[in-house]
Order: sequence, then structure tokens, then C-alpha cells
Amino acid sequence: MAMSASVACNCFVSGLGAPCLLEAEADLAGRLCAVADCSDEDLATFDEWLSNGCAHDGHRFVWEEISNWTDLGIIVRVLADHAEAFPALGASVGGTTDTFDLNMPDRSAAALAELDSYDVLCATEPQLPRWMPSVAQKLRKVFEASVALDRPVVWD
Ligand SMILES: [Zn+2]
Repeated sequence: MAMSASVACNCFVSGLGAPCLLEAEADLAGRLCAVADCSDEDLATFDEWLSNGCAHDGHRFVWEEISNWTDLGIIVRVLADHAEAFPALGASVGGTTDTFDLNMPDRSAAALAELDSYDVLCATEPQLPRWMPSVAQKLRKVFEASVALDRPVVWD
């Protein structure tokens, strides 16, 4: 079990990629679903389109496995210990335990700006786990995509 993060691509809402054979809609986060009641066969068709309907796997512009839950707990604690330095990053990562919590683009931008300080913290506090900078690299990718596409990060 691990916590992952993704940002939906804009292909469906921009009319790019293969057309969906069923009526589909995107939610606030850009996650796609079929509108009508579907048969099992329809759902299989929809799932096939969702997986292969555009150049992005699962209509996700970016998808990163961020951390296992044990390490995530360590990150949340470190961010809480330095809450004044990481208000957006702490709210972002700390909110991941609520599966309905999305990271909106404005918070992604603020969290992205705090990642440089996170890297400095990792470099200057040798007692912190050595894997912590690798988590920042993954978070940077999803926050950058969130800002660039103006879409929220979805924590899974
Ligand atoms: Zn796409």
C-alpha cells in the first residue's frame, strides 16, 4: 500500500484523443466517468477508452507513487515540526489521509515554492531519513503539472 498522486490530462475537455463512445463527463479534478447507466459491456468499453483514449495512461497527465504510508507518516511529522516553514506543503501532504481532499492549483503552486526549503532542510538535518529528497522530486512533478494544467492533484 502506498500513497500516489495524479493530475488528469486535458485531452477529454479539449476534445483531443479518441472520442468516447459513451456519454462521459469530467469531475472537478478531471476524473472521467460514464454518465448513463452502463451494462458490463459498456463499462468494459469505457475502461478501454479511459486507459487508451489518449496519449496519457488512464487520462492522467502525471502519476507518481509518492511514498508508502509509514514513510508518509514521517514526512507529515517532519512538516508539522516545521509548520511555519511549510504551511502549504504540510496542508497538501497532511491532507492526503482524507481521500476527498484535492490539492487545488493555487495550493500546488504554494507547496511547489516550499519544496526548495524542504530540500535545504533534508540537506542540513542529517538525522532525517535519506529517502526524503526523493519524495520531494515526485511531489515537484505533480505540483508542476497541477500548476501548468490548472488542475488539482488527486491523492489516491
Ligand atoms: Zn491525455
